[in-house]
Amino acid sequence: MMSDIRNCPKCGKIFAFLRSPICPACQQLEEQEFELVKEYIYENPGMNMSIVSEETGVPIEKILKFLKDERLELTSESENLILECERCKRPVRSGKYCDKCKNDLETGFRKEFGIGNIHSGPAGGKNSNKMYTITRIKDQK
Ligand SMILES: [Zn+2]
Ligand SMILES: [Zn+2]
Repeated sequence: MMSDIRNCPKCGKIFAFLRSPICPACQQLEEQEFELVKEYIYENPGMNMSIVSEETGVPIEKILKFLKDERLELTSESENLILECERCKRPVRSGKYCDKCKNDLETGFRKEFGIGNIHSGPAGGKNSNKMYTITRIKDQK
């Protein structure tokens, strides 16, 4: 079987496609950039995104991509390097959503499919409290 030959979207060179959408050379470059950013953040905690970008020569979009892919996770000292939750715009360290939204989305997902709190625990104490609060707020309106 012939290998899948493609044009690299970054440098335009032809390469045999395996798993990565970009050619091995560009992939290697990206890997180097990733290491550079990782090292820089590790050695200089607390720097903000534009400084990291300037110092490493890696574009901010790329640093963001590393973060969103969850390859790069911020330490507590690097909180200036902020990502926004795509749902509520709160700062997140890694990924697309903050912990709260991740949770909300998961709960919503479960509700949608009718897999409810019934299975979540013996008494379901916390959940029933929450339900009560929501009902009460609605009643007050
Ligand atoms: Zn390439
Ligand atoms: Zn959020």
